Parts: sequence; C-alpha cells; structure tokens
Amino acid sequence: MVQRIKAYVRGRVQGVGFRPTVYRYARSFGLSGNVYNTAAGVVIEVQGETEKVNQFFNRLLDVPPPQARIEHIHREILPTTPLAPFSISPSDPAGVIVPGFPPDLGSCEDCLRDITSPTNRRYRYPFANCTNCGPRFTIIQALPYDRQFTTMSGFAQCSRCGAEFADPHDRRFEAQPNACPDCGPRLALRDIAGRFIPGDPIRECARLLAKGAIVAVKGLGGFHLVCDAANTEVIALLRARKNRPAKPLAVMFSRLAQAETHCQLSPAARKALAAPSQPIVICRRRPSSSLPALLAPDTHDLGIMLPYTPLHYLLLSEINPLVMTSGNRSEEPIVHDERALNRILGPIADFALVHDRPIVRACDDSVLKITGRGAVMLRRARGYVPDPCVLPIAGPSVLACGGDLKNTFCLTRSRHAWLSQHLGDLSEYTAFMNYQNQLLDWQRLLGIEPQVVAHDLHPDYHSTRFARTLGHVHVPVQHHHAHIAACMAEHGLNGTVIGVAFDGSGYGPDHTVWGGEFLIATYRDFIRAGHLKAYPLPGSEQAILHPARMGLSYLFAEFGKDWESRAAALLPSLPPAERGRLAQMLQSPHPLPQTSSAGRLFDAVSAWLGFDERISYEGQAAVHLQTLAGREDGPPYPFLIERPEGRLILSFAPMFAELLADLRRRSSRPRIAARFHRTVAVAIARVCSQIGSAHHVDRVALGGGVFQNDLLLAMVCEELNRVGLQVYFPVAIPPNDGGLALGQAAVALAALADPARKQQPESEQCA
Ligand code: ZN
Ligand code: ZN
Ligand code: FE
Repeated sequence: MVQRIKAYVRGRVQGVGFRPTVYRYARSFGLSGNVYNTAAGVVIEVQGETEKVNQFFNRLLDVPPPQARIEHIHREILPTTPLAPFSISPSDPAGVIVPGFPPDLGSCEDCLRDITSPTNRRYRYPFANCTNCGPRFTIIQALPYDRQFTTMSGFAQCSRCGAEFADPHDRRFEAQPNACPDCGPRLALRDIAGRFIPGDPIRECARLLAKGAIVAVKGLGGFHLVCDAANTEVIALLRARKNRPAKPLAVMFSRLAQAETHCQLSPAARKALAAPSQPIVICRRRPSSSLPALLAPDTHDLGIMLPYTPLHYLLLSEINPLVMTSGNRSEEPIVHDERALNRILGPIADFALVHDRPIVRACDDSVLKITGRGAVMLRRARGYVPDPCVLPIAGPSVLACGGDLKNTFCLTRSRHAWLSQHLGDLSEYTAFMNYQNQLLDWQRLLGIEPQVVAHDLHPDYHSTRFARTLGHVHVPVQHHHAHIAACMAEHGLNGTVIGVAFDGSGYGPDHTVWGGEFLIATYRDFIRAGHLKAYPLPGSEQAILHPARMGLSYLFAEFGKDWESRAAALLPSLPPAERGRLAQMLQSPHPLPQTSSAGRLFDAVSAWLGFDERISYEGQAAVHLQTLAGREDGPPYPFLIERPEGRLILSFAPMFAELLADLRRRSSRPRIAARFHRTVAVAIARVCSQIGSAHHVDRVALGGGVFQNDLLLAMVCEELNRVGLQVYFPVAIPPNDGGLALGQAAVALAALADPARKQQPESEQCA
C-alpha cells in the first residue's frame, strides 16, 4: 500500500545537516516528496510503500544527524498524489527562521581526519568544518542562518568548495562556513609591535610557547591567553600579568589519553569531554600528575578540555598540554576582535596568533563539573548557547535581566527561554557595556520585543537599574526565589516545592542580606519558611573579601567575653589592633547589616581552619574548606532549630563549640572540615523534613552558588533521600547566579498568568 505523510519536525533541526540527511534516507528507501525549512522547524513530505515510509521515520529518529535534536514530530496522513523524486526545496520564507540559531560545535572526526591526511586538500587547514561541526553562534550576523549573513560572507567559495556546498550527498552540503586553504580564512602570527612573524604560524607559535612565551590565540568565541602548562615560571608570569593569583586555569590536552594520565576520568567525564559542545570539564587530578600545582593551587581538581577547532588540534599536536584561559583582564569580557587586542597583547601576551574570520559575539568556554551525581553546568556558554530551554509556563515575551555576578540574561517567546552566554560581572564597565550590546543583538536576532521585564529585587544592582530604564511592565523577583524557580524550570516542576537556596548574598525584602534560605515556593510566590541564623557583616564588602572578619563576627556573637582569646588563636591574620576595631564595629549602637548567608558560614569556618588570606575570587575560602575535607567523612556536629514566630531558624552555635574544641585538641583538620559539611547536609535535611511535613510537600529544589561544592551537594542529596524527600538540583544551567535569569523569567510568566498576584514577593509570615 502506498502512503503519503507530511511531518512537522521541531527542535534543533536547522544548521545541523538535517535536510541532507532526510534527503539521503528518503532516497535510500525509494520515497518521493521533499523537505524544507520553515519558521517553526522542518517540514518533510514523503510518499511510498507504507513499510518503507515507516522505516524512513524510524531511521530518522534512531540515527538523526549527530548535532540534531528532535523535540517533537507531528505526522499527518494526506491523500496520495503523483510526486517527483525526493528533493530539497527552498526555505518557506514566511517568518524569521529562529530555530536555526545553533551553537558552535567542536570538530567532528571526519574533519579531523581531513586535516591530518597529507593527501587531503584540507591537510593542516585550521578552519576546516562541515555540517556536523564548526562555528555557528559566533559568526551569525543575522538570521536565517545563511552564509551571506555570517562573517564568512567575505570569503567567496572556490569552485571545489562550491561544489561540495551544492551536493546533498556531501557532508559539506550547505555547511555555511565551508572553506579551504584556497578560499577561506587564514592564520597569522604577530608580535607586540604588530610585525608578522614569517613561517608556518602554528609551528612558529608552538616554538615560541615552548620557549616560555604567552600567546593570545584567536579561537572560536574570542582570544585565549595560552602558555605551556608544564612551565611553572610562565604560569606564574601569566597569573601576575592577568592579576589572577589563584583562580584555577583551564588546561587543554591534545587527546583524551593524554588527559587521562593527569586526571581521573569517570565515564561521565569522558563523555562530557568528547561531546560536540566540548566544554571545560572539572575533574579530579591524579596525585601522580607532574603538572605544576600553580595551575589550581586551591584544589585537587583541574579544569581540562580537548581541542575543539582544527586550529587548536594542530597547535596541540605540536605542544601539549597548554594553559588556555579567557583572553581578558580579570573580570572584563573576553576579547574577541583585533581592535581590542591591545588590551591583552602587550600587558599580558607577548605574541598573538590571529585569523581573518571576524567573531560577531564573544562566547567563553563552558564549564562542567563532574560530581558523584553526574555532570553539572557551572558556566554555560560555548557549545550550549543559544539552545533554548523549554519552560513549563507560556506567556508574553519576557526579558529577565539576571543578577550582577556571572551575569546571563534570558529572553522568552511562548514556552521557549533563551539564556544568554556567560557575560561576567556587570560592575566592570566593559562588561556592562557588553551586556547592553548583547541584549540588543539577541533581541534583533530572535525577533523578540519583550513586553515584560523581570529583574532582581536589589535596588542597586546594575541589572536592576538598567531594567528600570526600560519602559515595560516590571516584575521584581527576590534573588533566592529566582534560584529555586530556575531549578524548577529546568526540571519542569509545577506545584509547590521546598526550596533550599544557599549562596553568597541576595537582597531580602526585609532589607537584610539573605543567603541561607528555606522557601516554600511555587513559580508565582514564596514563603520564607526558614533560614540560617543571621550574623553581622563587619564592613560589608571587606567582610566578604577577608573571611577572617566573618570568623571574628561569629566568635563575637557566640562566645561572649571569650571571643578575644579565641580570635587571637584562630585568626592570626587579624592583628590585635584590627580585632579591636572590628569589635568596636560589632558593639556599635549603629547596627551592622545582618546576613543569613551560607557563603559567609563557609567563609567563617574556613578561616578558623586556616584560610588566612584575602580572597582573590568568589568562593575561594569555601573551595579551600572542601579541598581540606577531601574524601573524609564523619558524624555530624550538633545544631539547633529554633522556631521564633513560626519561622525555623537553623543555628550552628552548638557545632561551633564542638568544632573549636576539636581544633584545640588538634584533631584531624580534614576530618573536622568533612564533619562540618556533613553537619550542614544533615541540618538541611532536618529543616526540610520539618517544613515538608508542615506544608505537605516532599520535593526539594536546590539552588545557589554554594551548591557548586560537590561534596556538599552529594551529602545533601544523600541526607534528603534518607528522610524520604525527593531532590532536584540544577544540572543543565548553573546553580550560581548564571542561572538566575531563567528563574526570573519563570516567576514573571507565572505572575502574569495570575493577575491577582502582588508585584512584590511575599516575604513575611510562615503559614
Ligand atoms: Zn566536521
Ligand atoms: Zn575552497
Ligand atoms: Fe545567588
């Protein structure tokens, strides 16, 4: 029997070789019909023997093109009619073809084979790509995704490339950035003075790196600062020049087997490293690794990645491994064009390896961490952006402005939410300018005119002030509510959850600094059902930069007149004069800001256990504490749950007394650090269990930067399961403020769906 089917396919089906694959499959089953792109996705019309038609669809679903993601396929049966042999038809021009806005993809096996085969015409060509790999997001100037609207428009294809591009049987059929040494982009190596260095740019670059040079290398989404990862002196020099004393540096290895000799790779780590998104993957370093400790002095982990463009592949086959860190000065955006190159070339880099394919928008490397419960996203950018998330709520288009640190913004249309690439710290002027430009760029590309603007409740965030300049309906969203909503949205949770939001700080509607919060939350609303006991922040920003100050604040609050002798013993980095000044602040009649921050709790304990410096990156003291704990474990210390006015207050005062006694007894510090983590996990589970029974809720959603600590995350999951609660934590979006915008968007959509909602979140009163 002959059948004719029209199928509408949605998902990531454009710019990934979907139509040629459909073409090949349809032809191989002898079907007639056609395939074309539309604004919503791809339409396939096939006619042939019913059995062949079924086999065709099964094949397409079982073996889609490597980079495609079929979200939904809707089939209609049509009356049969004479049809021409199967062909690819031109795009349906109606509407903007938004779904064809794919992420950059790491080199595929076939392209790597091409560049390593001496007889291939792309042998050693750094810009080889095909439909299954190569640049996308970073070269697209406008949509639809056609070469003329990319930065490849300046490179006319030679006749051989043109023939590949036009042949549906070729893997470069309609590969928009298709290029070869005759017609495509070229590399050049230059020095600080702008002089070009003769010879093969890659081999010369490798030679300079081997001699200890720092080179700015233009890659896919911007410049990397690159140096020899085995050379301690040059790493120290890079750190000094970049003003990055301790924050871990990422390392690129030539291949998986190389990485394996330095890091313990779980199956999840291997899978993540080899995925087409090719992120930086944070793995446990082998104690036997010969690489300098200076790469990541605070931890036993190392962020590693594999070459993801032919350029990196060729460079790494000359010298391996290499440090590859974002080409920027401290928190500024990554440099992505030659005009800004002098910000890093000269002050930081000695040479620059450049090419003439412009990068439209900067995009950092993504960062994943391998935890006991799989891979978790810490920074979402290259390889993942701009793939949309699907929200459980639809509504008018929303712009969610995000937070100020690790900023991303979010734009929605119907159920789709596009989270921008990581944009950094908005208090940096250049980052804030970049934020505004990116926002305009994204709105134009996606054709989204937001009707509603969601932003953090903090009145002084740059993102909030910016949001207020936009003439739309505004929905302020409490910081920790947004963290929990982001986790809910990622997992498609509806209804009510217990939200555990542990982070550094977020603005509370009661004008205190929140950060250790237990919420009863829906997208629409929340109740602050409990929180960590609050302590004063002696000298706000200074208290964050210098964890010993928090250590002192806790001692002062909990140990009465004993505080001074304890502080003298525990916090040697605070000289007596400074201790006195801080004590005066703590006793002052003008009360200091109070915080329930979990981040500050980790800071204080880390300071008592020997983290005796000012931090040079966010979370450094907590990283120290986790590293100290290693793989130790032990019984929890005691803690206290108080219940003034119905709200649960979690106090660790009883733990402090025992923990400090253990320190005085010179008990094992790793064990003390591990028992601290265990205590926090058990206490979280106890509080959740009490809130859960009171509110008849058995699902817990976690959020906030403290859950980047995978030791804590594992223990919290274990303890929550032990008390019979289901736990959800962010996996595909960062638990830190990088995921905030997604939560803000979900809250705004829920608020709009329910006009009865007040515009300010409910904060007081525990039901
Ligand atoms: Zn390829
Ligand atoms: Zn060519
Ligand atoms: Fe936060």
